Order: sequence, then C-alpha cells, then structure tokens
Amino acid sequence: MSLALAERPSTDTIALIRNYVQSTLPPLVDAIDKGQLYPADFMRGLGAHGAFSSHADVQSCDLNTSIDAMSEVAEICGASGFMTWCQAALVWYIANSENDALKSKLLAKVASAQILGGTGLSNPMKSFYGIEKLKLKGKRVSGGYIINGALPWVSNLGPDHLFATICELPDHSRVMFVADCTDPGLSLLDCDPFLAMDGTGTYGLIFKDAFIPDDMVLAHEAMGFVKKIRAGFVLLQSGMAVGIIRDCVDVMRKTKTQLGHVNKFLNAQQPEDFAAVLDRLDTQVRALAATPFDASDDYWRRVVTARLEAGDACMAAAHATMLHTGARGYMMSHRAQRRMRESYFVGIVTPATKQLRKMLAEMPA
Ligand SMILES: Cc1cc2nc3c(=O)[nH]c(=O)nc-3n(C[C@H](O)[C@H](O)[C@H](O)COP(=O)(O)OP(=O)(O)OC[C@H]3O[C@@H](n4cnc5c(N)ncnc54)[C@H](O)[C@@H]3O)c2cc1C
Repeated sequence: MSLALAERPSTDTIALIRNYVQSTLPPLVDAIDKGQLYPADFMRGLGAHGAFSSHADVQSCDLNTSIDAMSEVAEICGASGFMTWCQAALVWYIANSENDALKSKLLAKVASAQILGGTGLSNPMKSFYGIEKLKLKGKRVSGGYIINGALPWVSNLGPDHLFATICELPDHSRVMFVADCTDPGLSLLDCDPFLAMDGTGTYGLIFKDAFIPDDMVLAHEAMGFVKKIRAGFVLLQSGMAVGIIRDCVDVMRKTKTQLGHVNKFLNAQQPEDFAAVLDRLDTQVRALAATPFDASDDYWRRVVTARLEAGDACMAAAHATMLHTGARGYMMSHRAQRRMRESYFVGIVTPATKQLRKMLAEMPA
C-alpha cells in the first residue's frame, strides 16, 4: 500500500475529524449530490471538531491540518469538500486581516463555523490576470463603502451567511471586504441546477447600494492583501483533490477482485500509479503549505504548478476510475460517476486549469 494511504495524517485533531466525517457524512451524500440538501449542520459540526481553526492563528499558521481535514471530507463527498474549502478560505482572509475590529467580531465565530460563509474571489482573481473585469464597484462614504454590481456564483451561503469579495473604487484601487447576506442591499438569487455541486448553497449575488461598514473591511488596499493570502487560498484547494483521488484509488482497488484480469491492461492508469501521484502531491503540498507567506516568484510558481497538477491528477484519477468500474460505475448509485462529476469541478473552480496555464505562461522565466 502507498505511503499516502497507509500513513495518512493521524494527529488527534484529524482522528476526531475523520471519525466525525465518516460517521455523519455518508448518509447525506446522495441528497447533497442531488441538490436536495445544503448540509449546514454538518458544516457547523465540522467547525466544532476543529476543521477550520488550525490556520486561524497566523503565527502558528497550520494550513496542513486544514488541508488534511478537507481531504477527509472530500474523500466522501466532493461537494462538501468544496464547501469546506469555502469556509476555510473565509477563515484565512479574516485571520490575515489587520483590521482588529473585524477579527474580534468574526474570527472565532467563523473559525468554529458558528457563522458559515464563503468567498467570492473568482471574479477578482480572474480580473487580476486580465481574464475579465471586476464586477463590483464601490464608493467611499462616511464609515464605510457603498457597493453595487453582481457576482454570478458564490457558494456555502444562506440567508444568514457571510462571504468575502473585492470591489473597485473610482480611482481603480480595490477594497476587500466581508459581506453579510442579511444586508438589505444584498440579494441572493437561486441558480439553475448544477452538476455535482447543487447542494453547495451556491447563489448569484446582487449588490444594490449595499453598505459595508469599516469593521467589515479586510483590507482597504486589496492588492497587497491578496499577495499575502493567495498561496494559502490556492494550496487549501488541494484538500479537495487529495480526498477525491484517495477515494478513486480505493474504488479502483476494489474492482480488482472481479475485473483485475482485464483492468490490468489500462496502462499507467492503475491504482498504484495514482497512489504514487498522491504521495508526490501530498509531499509537495505539505512542504509548500509550511511557508505560505514566502513572497518569492519561485515559490508562487511552485504553488501554481502544484495546484495545476492537483486538478489534472484529480480528473485523471476519476477518469481512470470510470474505465476500471465499467458498466457498474455508470450506474447513478455508484460513486465512480459522482467522483468523475466532482473531479471536473477541481479543474474549473478558480483558478481554473486554463487560468493556471495562463498564469504560468505569463510568469517571468
Ligand atoms: C457550482 C459552482 C460554484 C461556484 N462557487 C463559487 C464561489 O463560491 N465563489 C466564487 O468566486 N466563484 C464560484 N464559482 C465560479 C468558479 O470559481 C469559476 O469562476 C467558474 O466555474 C468559471 O471559471 P472559468 O475560469 O472556467 O471561467 P469561464 O467559464 O471561462 O468564464 C466565466 C464567466 O463567464 C460569464 N458567465 C458564463 N456563464 C454564466 C452564467 N450562466 N451566469 C453568469 N455569468 C456567466 C461570467 O462572467 C463568468 O465569470 C462557482 C462556479 C460553479 C459552477
């Protein structure tokens, strides 16, 4: 058995989280996958078990425990793994803010998931790389900002949730802030049903003269702040990939008894191949996540490369799992087809595969 599978992290925190996830999540997966359930109670329980708090202290800044926790969730349900990332990213932004009023109001509650929420950084992250324009416009007023505009998709939301995003001011500077879904200037719009991700509490957001007070501002100068948080934002996503790949390896292994005599002809697509990829990815991410504030170009290139490899490996593992499971994997009751649908989300969520490739192509040599 590979290192990643035999020696998966087993700190006390992860053992508690694993136990919670394995005893609570499996019966919910079908309803989440069908978009019948947004698992708010599960997410709160995850927070109560410490899944979001290890990176809430930027001094010790243990991103790896949060990635490990996310992988435990994604191993069972990719949509829930994504919601875990949404919450973890929000914690990461608040933890890194220098706004003490915001931190004392929100950090403990979001890190323990008493308050749930997400991150609307796809549009800003794409705008920074010239892919699209910033969709939210802000205006400075006494004690805060007035925001107008719309974001097409933000996940892990509900009527009393929070999310972080970025607006542009008339002088083209940017402000990063936390929005509160209870704000009367903010409307949540239902989205058309999604493949695999329909249970993720994903809404379209309309800001109509929404007032963001100063104590909800993460950074009045967003660009410097984004440089500080970007590696953590990206590396945390690897928890989704690791969890899905781990389960794909398990599914492929289980088909061996009945189909090993023919599956062995799937060259370079054997469970052992993906277990080796998983080991390499795990080692790479673990080392990078230990120094998330490294400001060098070389570090950022390695982070972007690791994220690209994680997405590619996740989609490749799910693809191979479909080939190994054959007809039974095509049944809606089999998790192979769900893993395949979930894996593509790792490749399209911002930074998507195509954006990562653009970023690498445009980086200084
Ligand atoms: C289920 C789901 C959940 C998501 N959750 C989040 C989240 O929590 N936070 C977040 O910031 N982003 C979220 N996104 C967006 C995601 O991160 C990516 O930005 C998105 O999948 C597209 O990325 P892309 O680089 O492939 O862009 P492309 O698909 O190449 O381009 C996307 C752009 O096209 C436009 N567009 C295309 N179709 C539509 C449509 N139907 N409605 C409106 N605009 C459209 C929009 O301008 C959009 O930004 C979510 C997307 C999905 C499908």
